[in-house]
Amino acid sequence: MKLVQEITEWSVPTPNHQYVCNDSLSEIYGYIIAGTAERIMFKSPMKFDRKYRKFKTLENIAEQQGIEVKGSKGNSYFVTKHGGRSICTCPGFSFRGQCKHVTSVALGKPQGA
Ligand SMILES: [Zn+2]
Repeated sequence: MKLVQEITEWSVPTPNHQYVCNDSLSEIYGYIIAGTAERIMFKSPMKFDRKYRKFKTLENIAEQQGIEVKGSKGNSYFVTKHGGRSICTCPGFSFRGQCKHVTSVALGKPQGA
């Protein structure tokens, strides 16, 4: 998982946001609106349309601060600390603001959640 900054030079003034996406930049999990610090996570990953747009990597979240948790269907989710609270990339977290992955990481048992 990566945090990327969009650096596209638009023909009309357009704010470039930061995006939380997978390593291959094919899916977006969430974004940070330009000028704010809040990470807004989507309910489910969205296809990352990067046509004619440019991005640079700010952070490799998984390596630096994220903990990978395997979901029950075999998907991987990432639990990251952000501003003192834990955020998960799973759909349940964006819906409820809490999930079993965050709980399992908090308990120090990220496997088999
Ligand atoms: Zn979760």
